Amino acid sequence: QELRSANQILQQEILERRQTEAKLVYLAMYDSLTGLPNRTLLIEHLEKTVQTSQSALYDWSALLMLDCDRFKAINDTLGHLRGDQLLSKIAKRIAAIAPEDAFVARLGDDKFAIMLPILSDIGAIAPLVQRLQTRLAEPIELGSYEVTITANVGIVLVDPSYCQAEHVLRDGSLALIQARQKPQGWRIFQPEMHERALHRLTLEGKLRQALRQQELQIFYQPIVALTSASATAPIVGYEALIRWQPQGTSDFMSPADFIPLAEESDLISQLGNWVFRTVCQQLSQWHRTFPHRSVPFVSVNFSVRHLQGEQFVQQIYEVLKETQVQPSWLKFEITESLLIQDTQLIMNTLAQQRHRGIQISIDDFGTGYSSLSYLKQLPVDTLKIDRAFIQDMESDHDNLKIVEAIVQLAQALQLDIVAEGIETGWQAQQLIEFGCTHGQGYWFSQPLDNQAAWGLLQEN
Ligand code: C2E
Ligand code: MG
Ligand code: MG
Repeated sequence: QELRSANQILQQEILERRQTEAKLVYLAMYDSLTGLPNRTLLIEHLEKTVQTSQSALYDWSALLMLDCDRFKAINDTLGHLRGDQLLSKIAKRIAAIAPEDAFVARLGDDKFAIMLPILSDIGAIAPLVQRLQTRLAEPIELGSYEVTITANVGIVLVDPSYCQAEHVLRDGSLALIQARQKPQGWRIFQPEMHERALHRLTLEGKLRQALRQQELQIFYQPIVALTSASATAPIVGYEALIRWQPQGTSDFMSPADFIPLAEESDLISQLGNWVFRTVCQQLSQWHRTFPHRSVPFVSVNFSVRHLQGEQFVQQIYEVLKETQVQPSWLKFEITESLLIQDTQLIMNTLAQQRHRGIQISIDDFGTGYSSLSYLKQLPVDTLKIDRAFIQDMESDHDNLKIVEAIVQLAQALQLDIVAEGIETGWQAQQLIEFGCTHGQGYWFSQPLDNQAAWGLLQEN
């Protein structure tokens, strides 16, 4: 009798232990919010897929990675409880659209994955992605709120060349990054994406090093008063343009090739701070050398991402104090296309700088579709007409008209105007006839290094 009950207790204990173990396994492998398999389980599943596809040459499967465009904003505004509700609704929609034999998992945050088993028809992927995106874009009710989200999808075709699950995930992420470039985008992974990502990573490392090792310099391009079309018009300002000469090379790399890369991370703020400090040191030296003459203002390009940084205002203030530069010696240039993103914050920051006495220019004007009413609200002093319009003025009658209209617009809004990229006397003359007051371009001068800009100041 006693033996039997001891045995029963033991059985019971074993059962409970097994249940606890099963629960632990469940917790380790499944996402508690949505009940979907988590990343760990997906990797396990992928590992198996990769191994079987190695043996069968024509058996391809596919991994779809999906994330939601506005989830973070909704989560921050409506709170995490609503955010959680939203996620489980999204998960349900995904699971409902995914084919029955698909493996659906949550990768974390607003990221999901759908693993499609052996594909008999690759052509079936696109309609599936479209169905997913359409369904996810339908309004979702959250209590008394109704929200809409858009999903981006990165796709990897898992061919037999893959031998590790991690590689499939990596490529899926790269495709997803590309897919995010437009709302409701989707992209299939291409090997070039990997090369490009690698290239960018190396370039970013080199750029960080360049900042430390002083491979960067500032060039100055004169901005002139358009009083005559002559190539020797009076200089009123300089635009500071960054130049990078990587170690061991004799050529400069164009900022168009590395600024966009820097803008993807906080590197842009470091770069922007370096440019600003260097320019201010230079300006202060010029003013000390010519205390009784008017020294041209310097126009500095800033990226919106830098401007949005919490420390921006403080950093500007510190550099001004340290270098004793007057705000009226400076202008800030912000590209129009970037200006229309996060309006209120940027407007406040710009207004603050302008209040301090720094003038604000909109760079590359005409490329960014800013609305006229918006333009009136912006704290700006100057429009810079984009080079593209100036270049085609002679050959393209429409562009000629656009330039004329921008000049008139600037006059009506009482803004100063600079035409960028003037390369011929004809262009300069035409701009003068339109009433454009300032110009910049190879016709007057290329960007000059520090010493040449200094020389020009002494002549002027
Ligand atoms: P941007 O601010 O519009 O600068 C004008 C660009 O036009 C400069 O190119 C200048 O060299 C070029 N340019 C000037 N006149 C002519 C001309 O007559 N013909 C032609 N074809 N080009 C002309 P750059 O120096 O290569 O700079 C390219 C862009 O990189 C700049 O466009 C600006 O958006 C960005 N950039 C340059 N320096 C900085 C910087 O310090 N910080 C930030 N955030 N961006 C910078
Ligand atoms: Mg500029
Ligand atoms: Mg420009």
